[in-house]
Amino acid sequence: MAFAERLRRARGLMADQGVDVVVLSVGADLPYFCGYEATPLERLTMLVVPRDGDAHLIVPRLEAPRVVERPDVFSMTVWDDTENPIGLARSLIGPADVVGVGDHMWAGFLVDLLRVMPGAEFRRASEVTGPIRQRKDPAEVESLRLAAAAADRVAAEFQRGDIPLVGRTEAQVSAEIGRRLLAEGHQRVNFAIVAAGPNAASPHHEPGERVIRPGEVVLTDFGGTMMDADGVGYCSDITRCVHLGEPPAELTDAYDVLFEAQAAQVDAAVVGRPCQEVDRLGRAMIAEAGFGDNFIHRTGHGIGTEAHEDPYIVEGNHQLLEPGHAFSIEPGIYLAGRWGLRLEDIVVAATDGPDNLTTADHHLAVIDA
Ligand code: ZN
Ligand code: ZN
Ligand code: ZN
Repeated sequence: MAFAERLRRARGLMADQGVDVVVLSVGADLPYFCGYEATPLERLTMLVVPRDGDAHLIVPRLEAPRVVERPDVFSMTVWDDTENPIGLARSLIGPADVVGVGDHMWAGFLVDLLRVMPGAEFRRASEVTGPIRQRKDPAEVESLRLAAAAADRVAAEFQRGDIPLVGRTEAQVSAEIGRRLLAEGHQRVNFAIVAAGPNAASPHHEPGERVIRPGEVVLTDFGGTMMDADGVGYCSDITRCVHLGEPPAELTDAYDVLFEAQAAQVDAAVVGRPCQEVDRLGRAMIAEAGFGDNFIHRTGHGIGTEAHEDPYIVEGNHQLLEPGHAFSIEPGIYLAGRWGLRLEDIVVAATDGPDNLTTADHHLAVIDA
């Protein structure tokens, strides 16, 4: 794992962008650049990366035992509960006019920094970290592939009917999907949407106490984090739908449209194509079939150490796909109050074409009920 190389690249972008120092805290940037994931505490953890100078990891005393020290990457500075960590951060930041702040750092710490650095300009650190993180190296692609394969196995169990649905609540099924994700090698469940019948029309439905009944479509969209050998987590994310009993023609017709559009978008996700064109292609096919108003979100999001990151597959993103870009392709068709359908794969843009990491059957599975 080339943490030092990643920091070297970050410093290169900082020089290009005129950023003097980047400070990273909770979230996915920190493990990506130094192999340590901060506990999301009220206590400050911060990696201070000056453009010209050594990186320092500021850690609360009680968290220090968890840090794997990497002297070639950063020095560790420990603070006690009786100390003021912002004063410590301020001194390690040194003279700086432009500060890149980790997008997920608590706003409270940013407010404290604003107070002690009144003349400085603050920017999002993702302007520096995003372009580096979104291009996955071959080892990262393999980590994503392992996570995708584990999620795939759970999706296949769902499609085969191995996970009982009828008579259970969405929340119960969601919990079982989570347990299976862990059993397949994930360390963390990030989400497990289970949405039955009309609930499937809400893309980010919170699984609840509604009991799943025969004759319904059941949509599940789940993902977790799987750690690599360095303890850096890579995310999975997959959506599949099943129908309990023979689906009505209206639903299979809509699913056919979704299936064709999603497959065309995966095929279109080639190096050099603008992200927005991949979105447009599937959106046009879905609109052509009369469901233009029913595809109510972007086509996809990048994925890596974070479940949603650059690049976004959305209208307005002119960015060209590059080798190593990893992202979801997940169009959907939603009829409010009735049903919803979505089909999601994780795809890596590669020089020899789109590398679809997700292999679970793409058809609408029909389960006897
Ligand atoms: Zn989503
Ligand atoms: Zn998803
Ligand atoms: Zn997704």
